[in-house]
Amino acid sequence: MPELVERFIRNHKLDDREEYKKLLEQLEEPETAEYLRTEAVRLREQYYGKKIYIRGLIEFTNYCRNSCYYCGINRENQKAVRYRLSAEEILACCENGWRLGFRTFVLQGGEDPWFTDKRLVQLVHSVKEAYPECALTLSVGERSIDSFYRLRKAGADRYLLRHETADEVHYGNLHPACMSLPIRKQCLRNLKSLGFQTGAGFMVGSPGQTYWELAEDLVFLKDLQPEMVGIGPFIPHHDTRFCEEPAGSVELTLKLLSVVRILLPTVLLPATTALGTLSADGRERGLMAGANVVMPNISPKNNRKQYSLYDNKLCENEEAGEGFEALKRRVETIGYYLSMERGDALV
Ligand code: SAM
Repeated sequence: MPELVERFIRNHKLDDREEYKKLLEQLEEPETAEYLRTEAVRLREQYYGKKIYIRGLIEFTNYCRNSCYYCGINRENQKAVRYRLSAEEILACCENGWRLGFRTFVLQGGEDPWFTDKRLVQLVHSVKEAYPECALTLSVGERSIDSFYRLRKAGADRYLLRHETADEVHYGNLHPACMSLPIRKQCLRNLKSLGFQTGAGFMVGSPGQTYWELAEDLVFLKDLQPEMVGIGPFIPHHDTRFCEEPAGSVELTLKLLSVVRILLPTVLLPATTALGTLSADGRERGLMAGANVVMPNISPKNNRKQYSLYDNKLCENEEAGEGFEALKRRVETIGYYLSMERGDALV
């Protein structure tokens, strides 16, 4: 194997961006990619055995004040049918998830100004009061450090905020000028400093992305040391400016899952819905590349299609709470099993 690959496996890091770029180039060799995948699986099993953690995903609002160019629920999209779940509806989703045995709920939404600190804090209190044994993850975008502090104090345990790309120029090509990469990175550091189990992440194959941009994502992740990393392929949405762009590569996404498992061996790493959307066995292949988390959708069925980030997003069958038994079987066919624990980050 190339010296660089051996060194990456040994040290869980490389020296600089240039080296990460070379690593990605070397992974074009199938034997090298397989070697790395095997090491990723070994590490994942060393820390997590055959367990797959499960999170119930509740997409509770698709209102958003941002206009990320890739995202189907960006505020410019007049065709998006907007919805916002009430606290009662959200709690009913949790109840459904609880009955299925889920012990983590993820509340995800656009950056919806209706959810002021007061309302979100109230919501966090209600969920934690009703389900004290469960972990609560929020994924509601950028907020002030004071706001993060209030949410943490209210009982939220984890926070997902993908950085999307760590390269300044690339970030500028995916977002309007009013959105800022330094602010996004600062939010992630603030979340970590407040004791949230923090999730960063990026899309693979977003327009304009090359190995050079991905290399910077790896440098950033190593430096941030997030407890969770979300990686999924970019998929175009028909009502966005990127509608004609090609989707990201499943193969490259799988390689990056293995790279990130080696970079951050104890990381909580989901096999994402986007991966399952692009390839029928994408989720299983994600788990076999080093991922150890799945996030079935437990939002109300009526609203799932409206949370349309990209075209053909999976929200039924094994991707949904009601397909739990089928998911269980599919996971078992690859030698893993669904764990009903909270599945916190290892310390
Ligand atoms: N508003 C929150 C935030 O900014 O973190 C959470 C919701 S946001 C819609 C969740 C994630 O969806 C984003 O971080 C982005 O990576 C992903 N996403 C959006 N559009 C996508 C697309 N076209 N293809 C793949 N993933 C996409």
